Parts: sequence; structure tokens; C-alpha cells
Amino acid sequence: MYDTLFLDRDGVINHKLEGRYVTNFNDFTFITKSDFAIKELSKIFRRILIVTNQQGIGKGIMTVQDLEQLHIYMENELSCKNKYIDKIYFCPHLETSNCDCRKPRLGMFRKAQLDFPKINIDRSFLVGDSDSDILAGKGFGLETVKVSASFTLYDWLIELSK
Ligand SMILES: [Mg+2]
Repeated sequence: MYDTLFLDRDGVINHKLEGRYVTNFNDFTFITKSDFAIKELSKIFRRILIVTNQQGIGKGIMTVQDLEQLHIYMENELSCKNKYIDKIYFCPHLETSNCDCRKPRLGMFRKAQLDFPKINIDRSFLVGDSDSDILAGKGFGLETVKVSASFTLYDWLIELSK
């Protein structure tokens, strides 16, 4: 069994929007089979954590409450009884804020390590769609996977299951 799967959200789980932020559930659509992939991945990973930059909050475009509502919606869509996502970490700060949590910085990963001290980095992965995800993952010592429109989370699941 693998240990921890760190997932970026936008561009991995749900579609990004052109020129604007995903601020509520009307904006939220799963990338093809990403919901199925998460359920399957939860069978081979001990835990799944989301690490997501959400500077729309810092910009005042949405509130922390909006984001939390959206995540409740997302988790409800994913599951009836089972909880597949163990915890969601988000960075609400602006790119210019110099916080320590915005990827490629490692604050969210370090927080996860405090919450789940047994994380085994050697058996863990980061999946993201941008360079800052990959940089953060590597910075934390994780094996990294970059997804795109032509290689999705589902495609990676299939590869991993071979
Ligand atoms: Mg992304």
C-alpha cells in the first residue's frame, strides 16, 4: 500500500476556468473520471490530502466560508458514506504576500506532517498540474506527477495499477 497522496485541486480534480477563479459549486466540474480515480486511489493510499493555493480569497473574490462550502459540495459529490479526502489544506494568501504556505513553498505540507506524523514520504506522491506543485512536491521529497489535459489523474491511476 502507498502512504499519502497529496493532490492539487484546480486542474487535477476540477476544471480550471478561463481567467477567473472557481468560487462556488456552479463553477465546479470534475475533470473526466477524476472522482472515480479518487475513490480508487483511496483503496491503494493510506490517506489523500488536498493542498491548494486559493489566492482568490486574498484578492477578496471569495471568502474562506465560500471555499469551505465548495469543499463540502465537492466531498458530497464524491461520496455517500465514505470519506475519501482525509484533509484539505489551502493557502488563502496572495502570491505577493510572501507567506510560507503558498506552493511552491512547503507550509501546507509541513502542516500535514504535524497533523499526520506518520506520513512516509518515501511511499507518497504529489500530483499537480503546475510547476509550483511539482517544485513543492520535490521540495518535500515526494515523487511527483504532472497531469494535464492529455494525462489526467485517471490516466495516472491506470498507469499505477498496471
Ligand atoms: Mg492546479
